[in-house]
Amino acid sequence: MGLVILAAIFLLPFGGSSSTLYGIVSPMIKNLSAVQSSGDTAKLANNYTWIIAFILLVIAGVVGIFPLGAGVLGMVGMAMITISPFLTHPNGPYTLSTGTGFYIAWVVSVVALVASRWQGKKETPPPVSITIVQTQNTGTQVAQPTKNTKCPNCGADNPEEATKCSSCGKDLPVAT
Ligand SMILES: [Zn+2]
Repeated sequence: MGLVILAAIFLLPFGGSSSTLYGIVSPMIKNLSAVQSSGDTAKLANNYTWIIAFILLVIAGVVGIFPLGAGVLGMVGMAMITISPFLTHPNGPYTLSTGTGFYIAWVVSVVALVASRWQGKKETPPPVSITIVQTQNTGTQVAQPTKNTKCPNCGADNPEEATKCSSCGKDLPVAT
């Protein structure tokens, strides 16, 4: 997931031209002081937006193993880029030239966020494995741990001597 985001911003055409997001942002970083001294605040705000969005997307790519982080950072970064033309042209025309990388980064961010929510809901405690240790006691006999038969139909535990599942009523395999 993270690798796809990184690929989308470093390898794929992001803007209208064939330049990648990195290709768009790196001259912005270089020219930042020049733009700053020119006093073009709209352009400066736009450049800052893209640079911060770029940084967020790089972090999103790096933390890709955590879908929640990648999804949130990715979406914030992409939202910033998407609204950036409003900063330079608040009264329109609204133009944002986009390439493959732009859409892939958006889709991956949304997918990562949805996947993280889905994972969180599906999360179940790990199956508890019960090891039954039978000891040969020579002295006083302690209570023998009960051996359970797992129902093949519903998975409920039943006493070893039971023939029918107490939960679903299906016949249990005969313990050997
Ligand atoms: Zn059952």
